Amino acid sequence: MPTRNFDVVILGGGNAGMGVTVATREAGLKVAIIEPDLLGGTCPNRGCMPKKVLVAAAHTLDEIERAKAHHITVGKPSLDWAALIDREKAMIAGIPGSLANAMTRRGVEVIRDRGRFAGQNAVAVDGETLEAKHIVIAIGSKPRRLPFSGAELMITSDDVLSERTLPASVVFVGGGVIALEFSHVYARAGTQVTILEVLPRLLTNMDADAVAQLHSETERIGVAIHTGVEIQRIERAGDRLRVIYEEAGSEHAIEADRVVNGAGRIADLGGLDLPAGQVASERERIALDAHLRSTSNTAVFACGDAVASSPQLSPIATYEGRIVGRNIVDGPKHTPDYANVPACVFTVPALASVGLTQTAAEEQGIELRIEVNDMHNWLSGRLMPRPRPGRKCWSTNRPIALSGRTSWATPVRN
Ligand SMILES: Cc1cc2nc3c(=O)[nH]c(=O)nc-3n(C[C@H](O)[C@H](O)[C@H](O)COP(=O)(O)OP(=O)(O)OC[C@H]3O[C@@H](n4cnc5c(N)ncnc54)[C@H](O)[C@@H]3O)c2cc1C
Repeated sequence: MPTRNFDVVILGGGNAGMGVTVATREAGLKVAIIEPDLLGGTCPNRGCMPKKVLVAAAHTLDEIERAKAHHITVGKPSLDWAALIDREKAMIAGIPGSLANAMTRRGVEVIRDRGRFAGQNAVAVDGETLEAKHIVIAIGSKPRRLPFSGAELMITSDDVLSERTLPASVVFVGGGVIALEFSHVYARAGTQVTILEVLPRLLTNMDADAVAQLHSETERIGVAIHTGVEIQRIERAGDRLRVIYEEAGSEHAIEADRVVNGAGRIADLGGLDLPAGQVASERERIALDAHLRSTSNTAVFACGDAVASSPQLSPIATYEGRIVGRNIVDGPKHTPDYANVPACVFTVPALASVGLTQTAAEEQGIELRIEVNDMHNWLSGRLMPRPRPGRKCWSTNRPIALSGRTSWATPVRN
C-alpha cells in the first residue's frame, strides 16, 4: 500500500477535528483531516444548527399561544412539517462546502474516507497508509446502543431532523437534553409525546429545582413524563411500535408511531482498531492524561465527544481541539479547564446553567450561599407572561432564567 507522511493526521472533521487545525497550521505543520461524511460533523449537519431551526418554530408557536395576553387575536396555527424540514435542510445545505473551502484556505488536506489505526504512528484509509508524528481521535459520538429486545426499532435524532412526516405520537426512551428539546418541538406541533426515563428525574446533570420547573412546563404543554421506569422491550404493533416498560413494580405498554433513542451518546470506537495503534481504552473510554493525550501512546490525542469524561457540547469540542493543537505544537503543556462551562437546554422556555450544580459543589465541600430571585411578579417579568410553573423551586447555584425566575448561589471560598 502506498504511504504518505504528515505531521498531524486527524480522524474526524467535526468541531474538534477542525479545532486542531488552528495551531498546527499556524505552526506550518503538514495536516490532514479524514472525514467520511459531511464536513463539520454533528453540530452543523445533524445537531445544534438544524435542531435550532425546529426550536425556532416552537418558539413562534409558543408566542402565538400567548398572544391573547397582549390582546392579539390569532387563529389556530397550522404547521407544515414537511416544509419546516425542507427549510431546516436548506439553511444548513451550504455549511459543508464552506467548511471545505475554509480547510483549503488553511492548507489542510481533507481525505474523504473512514480511518483506522494501522500502527502506533499510522492510519489506514482506503488504498493508502498515512504515517504521522501525531494522530488525533476526533470521531465524535453515536447514540448509545441499548440492551433490550427491539432496540433496533428506535430512530435517532438524525431521523427526527430528516423525516418529512410529522408523527402523531412519539415515545422518547431517555429524558436527557435531546429528548427534552425535541419534545417541546413535537408537542407544540401537535404530536402526542411521552418521555420514559430510567432515573428518578430528568436532566440529572442540572440543578434539581430548576429542572422541576422545566418538568412542570413540559407537562403543561402535554408531554407525559414517566421517571424511574425500566424498558423491557419494543415490539411491532401493526404500523406502530409498542414499548413495554416497568414502572412502580408493574408492567405497562404504550404504543406510538415512532420511538426515539434519547438515552445519550457515546464515542463509537469500534471501527478504529485501537489495539493496532496501541491506544489503551476501557468500555468505550480512551485512557487520556490531563493534556488529552493517550496514556499508552504519546503520539495520539483525543478531543470532542470522543472524550468520554467532558461535556458533549460543540464549543467544548472546539476548545479541546484547539488545546490538542497547541499541545502538538508546544509539547504537552496545556490542560482543559471545565470549571465554568455554560450549557443550555433549548426547550421553550430554555434552561441555562454555568459552572457546578449545587449538588456537585456540595460534594466538593465548597461552602455555598444560595440566592433565589423569583422574577414572576417583576414588571419586566409580567411583560412577557408565562404560566407559572406548578412546582415550588428554591435554590440553585447558578443563574437560570426560566418562566421569569432567576436564581443563583455564590460559592463562598475561604
Ligand atoms: C441532536 C443534537 C443536538 C445538539 N445540540 C447541541 C447544541 O445545541 N449545543 C451544543 O453545544 N452541542 C449540541 N450537540 C452536541 C454537539 O453536536 C457535539 O458535542 C459536537 O458536534 C461534537 O463535535 P465532535 O467534533 O467531537 O464530533 P462530531 O461533530 O460528531 O464529528 C466527528 C466526525 O468524525 C467522523 N468520523 C467518525 N468515525 C470516523 C473515522 N473512523 N475516521 C474518520 N472520521 C470519522 C464523523 O463522520 C464525524 O463527522 C447536539 C448534538 C445532537 C446529536
